[in-house]
Amino acid sequence: MDIFCKIVNGEIPSYKVYEDDVCLAFLDINPVTIGHTVLICKEHYSDVVDANPEVSMHMFDVAKKLANRAINKLNAKGVNILTNCKEAAGQTVPHFHIHIIPRYDETDGYNPIFTAKENVDFEAVLKEFKED
Ligand SMILES: [Zn+2]
Repeated sequence: MDIFCKIVNGEIPSYKVYEDDVCLAFLDINPVTIGHTVLICKEHYSDVVDANPEVSMHMFDVAKKLANRAINKLNAKGVNILTNCKEAAGQTVPHFHIHIIPRYDETDGYNPIFTAKENVDFEAVLKEFKED
C-alpha cells in the first residue's frame, strides 16, 4: 500500500487542511513554500490519466478553492497547481495527487524553469499528436 493510501486510512498522521467524501488535502511534510499542500483522492488511482474523470474534475475544483484560500489567508501572491503524471514526469508516489504551491516572490523556494526547445518541427508534431 502506498503512503497516500495509508494517510487516507489514518495509518499515517497528516496536517489535514481539507477533507470531503472524495478527497483529502494536507500540508506537504517537505514543503517547497509555506502552505505547500498535497491534495489526494481517497479512492486509489495511480495518476491523473488513470483517475475517474469525475474524481479528477472534483479535485481540480477543490484545488482552486485551496489556491484561493492560500491567497486570502496566507497572503500568497500567486499559486502553482500541478500534478506529475508517471515517474518520467517526476511523480514519486503512484497515487493521484495535486500540488498546491502558494507563491510569495521569486525567492520563495520554488523555481519552475521552462527551457524552450529549439528547431521544433511543429507540423510533424501536430501530425502525430492531433486527434484523428
Ligand atoms: Zn494509493
